[in-house]
Amino acid sequence: MTLRRLLLLAQIPFWVLLVGAFVLLSAALDARVQATERATRTRTELAAMGQVMQQVVNLETGLRGYVITGEPVFLEPYNVARAVLPTTLAELDRGNSAGRPRLNRIRTLIDQWQAGVALPEIAARQRSEAAAAALVKSGQGKKLLDRIRAEVAAYTAEQTEYLNGQEAVALSQLRRLRLTLYGVGGFALLASLLATLGSAEVLSRSFGRFTVAARRLTDGEAGVRVTPRGPAEIQALSGAFNHMSEGLTLAQQQAQTHAETLAARNDWMRRLGEFGDWMQAARSLEEGARILENALPALLPGTRGVLLQHNASRNLLLPLATWGGESGAATSPDGCWALRRGEMVAPQGERLAPPCLGGPGGDYTCVPLFSHGETLGLMRLRPAEAGEKLPAALLALLPGIVRQVSLSLAGLRLQDRLLQQSIRDPLTGLFNRRRLEDELAAQTAHATATGSPLSLIAIDVDHFKRLNDTFGHDAGDAALVRLSAALRELAPAGSTPARPGGEEFSLLLPGYDLTAATAVAERLRAEVAAWTLSHAGITLGQMTVSLGVAGYAPPLSSPAALVRAADEALYAAKRQGRNRVVLSEETRPEAWLTLTTA
Ligand code: GH3
Ligand code: MG
Ligand code: MG
Repeated sequence: MTLRRLLLLAQIPFWVLLVGAFVLLSAALDARVQATERATRTRTELAAMGQVMQQVVNLETGLRGYVITGEPVFLEPYNVARAVLPTTLAELDRGNSAGRPRLNRIRTLIDQWQAGVALPEIAARQRSEAAAAALVKSGQGKKLLDRIRAEVAAYTAEQTEYLNGQEAVALSQLRRLRLTLYGVGGFALLASLLATLGSAEVLSRSFGRFTVAARRLTDGEAGVRVTPRGPAEIQALSGAFNHMSEGLTLAQQQAQTHAETLAARNDWMRRLGEFGDWMQAARSLEEGARILENALPALLPGTRGVLLQHNASRNLLLPLATWGGESGAATSPDGCWALRRGEMVAPQGERLAPPCLGGPGGDYTCVPLFSHGETLGLMRLRPAEAGEKLPAALLALLPGIVRQVSLSLAGLRLQDRLLQQSIRDPLTGLFNRRRLEDELAAQTAHATATGSPLSLIAIDVDHFKRLNDTFGHDAGDAALVRLSAALRELAPAGSTPARPGGEEFSLLLPGYDLTAATAVAERLRAEVAAWTLSHAGITLGQMTVSLGVAGYAPPLSSPAALVRAADEALYAAKRQGRNRVVLSEETRPEAWLTLTTA
């Protein structure tokens, strides 16, 4: 139902009653007019009847005058009345059905009086006064006139009574009408009031529902709805409101999701920044790898994977860090599509990608690590749970992480390279003099503190100048590289094989006493002496080395003294004919004893 129809319906009782009242009033007025007309007509008839009576009197008066005088002039009122009376009677007769019998009797009586009394008396008078008097005396005329008078009186009484009756009926009708109008009007007012209140209630309830719903919506409640009820316009408004409410709820949810996404992203950015800070503080690739292993589970939640870096000769990818329980193994970079194409390869995204050639393939997403145009390695990751997919949001974050990881790794690699350059001898890859001195300082301090043994072997190639002069500098270099490889091979874990300069080498042996160190020195000497060197297809012949061994002991209170003692033992070996090992006499335990007792 529409609002217009509801309001119209509410007014219908009022209108019905109004029309009813109008019909009633109109009918009552009609009745009243008719009653008034009848009363007027009755009064006119009564007046006419008065005139009839007056003319009857005139008839009798004229007749009597003439009978008494015999003068025709006295007959004038009689003649006038005789001429007028039929017209007056005829007028009375018209339309008066109730009084017609009495009227007819009056007319008959008048006609009887005329024919039986008036005309005979006039004729008799014309003959003689006495004849006329005899007729008068008969009393016939008086009798008829008395009857006429009685009929007229009865007629007048009847008509008067009828008139009064009509007045009374009209009056009671008016009273009834007044009562009816009061009743109908009151009922109409009541009905109209109730209908108006009913409509107002419907509208008020509808708007009330909207007010409540709007308030709930403003308070942030989601999914608020108004039940479409009532007039069509209200139902349409409910539809529009619900549509708006759905829109608002959706917008709220979107804003919420957006805020959560932003918060998560902020959190993630903070973690990435923190990770960058820690990587900046790292001093070596090894430290960087441990930081990566701690940071990647939080930066790439729900994943597991491995970071692989190229080895020096770039023919292998070596695992640097793993996370999420992934195991890392060295793998060939040859079959890696991500490295070949220089971009991320995801299993779900790349329909063209053939199975990974060298790697484990399957559900791995692989991202190459680049920095300054150089490929550093590869990040290979997959969902922590088998059968799942990496979320799109994570894939979107991946390039940012990989950039940060690449940058950090490149920095650490550079740092590492610079460090190696500063502590290693470029020709042989052994530690240089600076690193040897640092190690000497550290190890002598440690030996002093703990009392653990420490030995140093000084090595010098015999007649190296000759080899150089005979076969050239390159051949000399090759011999030095060969010797350094042997030294590195022989050097036990924790020892420091070094090339302090020229054709001189040394080996610092923490935990080795003089005897153990002498054994190591002897092994090296014997191994070198057994070589037959060749370079560029030319046989260089044999090469020997002389070695001096010194033990760090209380009398040697400084690193420099230990070096000096080893050097002196080495010179002694040279002096004694080369290709031999000589122990530093002053560093022998027996010598310390002698020194202490002396
Ligand atoms: P000795 O047995 O007394 O030690 O005799 P030596 O000839 O080995 O001793 P010397 O000190 O006279 O000569 C050392 C030579 O080592 C001189 C130098 O040309 C050579 N030499 C030093 N550094 C290098 C290097 O890096 N490469 C080459 N090829 N030769 C070097
Ligand atoms: Mg020398
Ligand atoms: Mg030499």
